[in-house]
Amino acid sequence: MEQHVQHVTVVTGGSRGIGAAVAERLGREGHRVAVGFVRDEAAAEAVVASVRAAGSEAVAVRGEVSSEADVDRLFDVARDRLGPVTGLVNNAGVTGPLGRFTETPAEVMRRVVEVNVMGALLCAKRAAREMSTRYGGSGGSIVNISSGAATLGSPDEFVHYAASKAAVDTLTLGLSKELGPEGVRVNSVLPGAITTDMHATMGDPDRAHRMAAAVPLRRPGTPEEIANAVAWLLSDEASYTTGAILRVAGGR
Ligand code: NAP
Repeated sequence: MEQHVQHVTVVTGGSRGIGAAVAERLGREGHRVAVGFVRDEAAAEAVVASVRAAGSEAVAVRGEVSSEADVDRLFDVARDRLGPVTGLVNNAGVTGPLGRFTETPAEVMRRVVEVNVMGALLCAKRAAREMSTRYGGSGGSIVNISSGAATLGSPDEFVHYAASKAAVDTLTLGLSKELGPEGVRVNSVLPGAITTDMHATMGDPDRAHRMAAAVPLRRPGTPEEIANAVAWLLSDEASYTTGAILRVAGGR
């Protein structure tokens, strides 16, 4: 993409954790940001305020990523309020309680697949239709937030979640090839254990710190360290990078 193009980026799950750090980082780089959220409106509005304080524009949009109608609304509002969409960070994700695969209820598995896989597919589809030159767009970039779990498998914790993230990486692979000729780059970022609310939601608030001994860099990562990688992949500096599966996991 050429330098003068105004970046307009949709960040799903932009209200908290990694998504919030990504939205704020992109705001500082001059992106206009659509901050997707489903529940925590106050948190989403705080991220919008922070992007505006950095001198850019943002809008918070409530929506369930596994609903096609909600995804369409998210992109409609982004385009109408901020301009033609040039980027997507497919970040919204859930795990369910920690536990053995054989003890995981079917409804927990179904929810994880709905949000992590269907949500990512629907957002990527709509983003591609906004950005691909085949549909009149000017090109752009998609970053899918996967997980180190995709290659670890996460036994005794969340095998179903790990499987859903492997699907996200295959989405990156296929879509990068399908959309490359149409001006859209597609990459994955695989975070390791990052200090966000997600661990408390799984039932173990100290999990990211507890795992430090198993991480070569001996500490959990911060949301800002993931945002650094995402911002680079969305930038012109990554203009020849597509189909990459970038692990940001402290060596684990
Ligand atoms: P988080 O702190 O729990 O935040 C999740 C975000 O996703 C929130 O903004 C939430 O919105 C939104 N969200 C959840 N379900 C949604 C749905 N159905 N539709 C729309 N939005 C939804 O999570 P995080 O730790 O930042 O994780 C972000 C991404 O990184 C996820 O894909 C996760 O799998 C991945 N990841 C995280 C870690 C880690 O250690 N934290 C490691 C590897 C990968 P509300 O605020 O409105 O609830």
